[in-house]
Amino acid sequence: MEEPEYVLICVAWPYANGPLHLGHVAGCYLPPDIHLRFERALGNRVLLVSGSDEHGTPITVTAEQQGVKPQDIVDKYHKINKQALLNLGCAWEPNIDPRGIEYGGALFNRTSDPRHKRYVQENFLALHKAGMFEKKTMHQYYEIRKDGGGRFLPDRYIEGTCPNCEYKSARGDQCDECGTTYEASELLSPHSKMNPNAEIEIRDTEHFFFRLDLFQKSLELHSKDNWDDWKTNVKAMTKNWLDMGLRPRAVTRDLDWGIKLPLEGDEWDGKCVYVWFEAVQGYYTCARIWSEEFAEQSHPDGNAAWEKWWKNPESGTQPRHLYFLGKDNIPFHTVIWPALIMGLNNTDNNISADSDLRPGIGDLHLEDNVPAMEFLMLAGGQFSKSRKHAVWLPAFLDRFQPDTLRYYLSINMPENHDTDFNWPDFVEKVNNELIGTYGNFVHRVMTLAARLDEGAGENPLTKYNDLSIMGTEIDKITELHSKITASLQKHRYKEALRGAMNIAQLGNQMLQEATPWKFLTEPEDANDEWYTSRDISLAKLAFGWRISRTLAILTQPFIPFSAQQLWDNLGLAGEVSQVSWGDALNWDIAMTWTGEVPKPLFTKLDLEEILEQEKQLAEQSTTSDSQDPTHGVKGGKKKENEIMIEAPEGITYLEFDTFLKVELRTGRITNVEEHPNADKLYVVSIDDGTTEGRTVCAGLKPYYSIEEMEGKAIVFVANLQPRKLRGVMSEGMLLAADDGNDNVKLISIDGEISVGSLVR
Ligand SMILES: [Zn+2]
Repeated sequence: MEEPEYVLICVAWPYANGPLHLGHVAGCYLPPDIHLRFERALGNRVLLVSGSDEHGTPITVTAEQQGVKPQDIVDKYHKINKQALLNLGCAWEPNIDPRGIEYGGALFNRTSDPRHKRYVQENFLALHKAGMFEKKTMHQYYEIRKDGGGRFLPDRYIEGTCPNCEYKSARGDQCDECGTTYEASELLSPHSKMNPNAEIEIRDTEHFFFRLDLFQKSLELHSKDNWDDWKTNVKAMTKNWLDMGLRPRAVTRDLDWGIKLPLEGDEWDGKCVYVWFEAVQGYYTCARIWSEEFAEQSHPDGNAAWEKWWKNPESGTQPRHLYFLGKDNIPFHTVIWPALIMGLNNTDNNISADSDLRPGIGDLHLEDNVPAMEFLMLAGGQFSKSRKHAVWLPAFLDRFQPDTLRYYLSINMPENHDTDFNWPDFVEKVNNELIGTYGNFVHRVMTLAARLDEGAGENPLTKYNDLSIMGTEIDKITELHSKITASLQKHRYKEALRGAMNIAQLGNQMLQEATPWKFLTEPEDANDEWYTSRDISLAKLAFGWRISRTLAILTQPFIPFSAQQLWDNLGLAGEVSQVSWGDALNWDIAMTWTGEVPKPLFTKLDLEEILEQEKQLAEQSTTSDSQDPTHGVKGGKKKENEIMIEAPEGITYLEFDTFLKVELRTGRITNVEEHPNADKLYVVSIDDGTTEGRTVCAGLKPYYSIEEMEGKAIVFVANLQPRKLRGVMSEGMLLAADDGNDNVKLISIDGEISVGSLVR
């Protein structure tokens, strides 16, 4: 057998300012649990780390609004969210792998843990001493109290009118209405969100910035090393960041609620470590804390057990690092966090922007894959914690079997494009697929077998067991097994579950053809021919028992509760989660039996009833605004008469009307200059047929010289929201083709046509 691998599964840290909703579950929390269960079944050593992200302004804002302490908010939601994840069957407990501590375990920690704070402060100092921070002055709004004192206002504490769309409640750095980002000083009629009448002014404030720019080259090399394994969305987002050129990023801010700076001096009073800088280190601190807490006594490496999952060993295979998160979080995990890790690996070295800082032996390992998900939408709109447009996980689990949700979100996982949660679809998939195909098959096998039971205590199918007369079923299942394995290795969970469902389907067909129900009782005129037919038919039913066992093993990562129930119903001992993946194809196992007719694994759902409950909950929630969101379930109904054609894997269909909204026009490049603040951008002037023309920032510097671009006839997006890129206003976008291998070509026009012509 191959040496088991060390696999570190890192899960994005949920923010502890509200309950988790189904969008979080589909995007971040279910996929890593499926993957962990799969890796364990392969025999690998898996350590699972995450926890509540408990610092930062969203928490202080929630606390101030509710008139409680930030600590009360995080204590409440840490508990609720952890319990909800456990109720969903996510393997956060036990903390030690059931196979033993050498096989790893799991820890769902919190960033308020003093040990987390200590490690973060150590890392902060190490990076600071190594010269990887620089100090800069920022301009920040300051709220002045009547007594002359006051406080700095982080961006979420400032509200004003959006300079772009005039939305009245725009935040300090970004407008939630139109998405524009801006400097706080550009906001119109700014005021303190908590004390709208307080006097405010802009003041200078000193902060540390992490020198991300030092890691540009190393990150480019590192991402190339992994390029072929990464999903399209991960590559696109990472490339986008790297192409813009990396700049130092603030690691401190003016806020009390967070980790204190490990520095002497009054000038650092009232400042803390920026939440992004510490929360992202949670993957590392959590592994160390797990080690301190659980491995010290029992692991051969004691307190240093974490290194098995984190450091590149002198000999043998490197650990494998997988990060699970939503698409909005990608650059933090493919750019910022690996840069911090490389920084921590090199605090004793003198590094420069030309250094290749990819980890060597003894260094902390970088991410191998970041299988980020797209979004799960709710009845066509985005889930939103702040706008309370959501189906909350705790409330959902009060009403439904967790495996129904796990099944639905797996078969509907937003792997390559956004998918939608709606009640009719949920009910249909659970009733027709999970129950109709899977549940029915295993239940049929067991009830038919029970009718043969003559009370002998052993499985009545045993005497009909005869693999030699099986047709193509064994080959087909073997092939599906290897396909499912390959899909899981590529993080294609939907495809993998589809494969398991195909096995159930195959079992149903087999029974349908074999008609075992005709052979359960012997007719008085039974002859040799009848006995031969019976033996063949019941051999298939006996094989149905074996297929059910295979299904229990293969569906365990997806629907662990029902898989275990099925395992028990089959009379098999122990935990199905501890059975090896390859053993799903073991056809020689003794056929066990409980002697009882099992209850069905699932209960059918009633759409009418669910919609009625939804209506009542929606009414309750509109009559009481203070309602605790953990107990309310709100959802939407799919619009009636809407015909949805499901797009093939990897393709997102666009509504034709949406496409028509994009205005493409022809133009000619009249002038190209280097962008003053961005290494990879040009500032391109375009004759677009208007007298004033327009300016567009384009990331084409690595691919074109200025001379090559000037005079070219091009196609551009004319109605893109103008936005500032590093201080230069960009009014559109040039169209270019990119083959993903560093080959980028502008789209040009075939022949003469006047500038400003519409492209259709
Ligand atoms: Zn706006």
